[in-house]
Amino acid sequence: MSITRTPRRIGVLGGTFDPVHIGHLRGAVEVAEALGLDEVRLVPNFRPPHRETPNSSAQDRLAMVRLAARELPLLKVDSRELERDKPSYTLDTLESLREEMEADDQLFLIMGWDAFCGLPSWHRWDELLDHCHILVMQRPDADSEAPEALRDLLAARNVNDPLALAGSSGQIAFVWQAPLGVSATRIRQFLASGRSVRFLVPDAVLAYINAHGLYRASN
Ligand code: ATP
Repeated sequence: MSITRTPRRIGVLGGTFDPVHIGHLRGAVEVAEALGLDEVRLVPNFRPPHRETPNSSAQDRLAMVRLAARELPLLKVDSRELERDKPSYTLDTLESLREEMEADDQLFLIMGWDAFCGLPSWHRWDELLDHCHILVMQRPDADSEAPEALRDLLAARNVNDPLALAGSSGQIAFVWQAPLGVSATRIRQFLASGRSVRFLVPDAVLAYINAHGLYRASN
């Protein structure tokens, strides 16, 4: 008797997460629920140490993402890019994830509209869709046009209904969601000027930031 396996549906949300905030978390949860994903991997990116601005270490960024994901069963933290001592290309990360998956599993690369518009500057970006589908988190009131370099790709690969994405890779869909006007840049600025970031990050992340004195202007 053969047992039929249901292909897994895995989302990947990469970012510097410096720090992780409610925009990332709501985005991941809303996409996961809308598409019935089995999990979303939060993948903190390696970033070379930067001395001028009060940014945090890879270790702190990872710790905060772990705290944020702890109570959200759909969210998993994947530290593979931090385990190397240099920046990883997303293409390499997708290839390495694929090696751990079955051929018919579906992999969804999740990104905000801003990140999507920057895609043409990514390493071998035209190969990304060989390994995954791309889900773009788009705000309902957005009126931005895709950059010229992406128009042909969108014309060929865009699927109107994200639930209709078929196969293990190769298509692009937009997931519409209410925008949360929060960014890590704004959170760092608030903290550097001594303002509260309560409700912009999970309480456990805020406690970590305070306990480790992160993002203070003197760091
Ligand atoms: P920074 O302000 O430091 O550039 P950020 O807040 O944009 O950081 P990143 O870690 O660079 O966060 O973003 C990771 C991913 O999350 C990107 O795909 C980005 O488009 C998306 N993202 C960032 N902020 C939001 C938000 N408020 N709502 C939905 N998605 C977001």
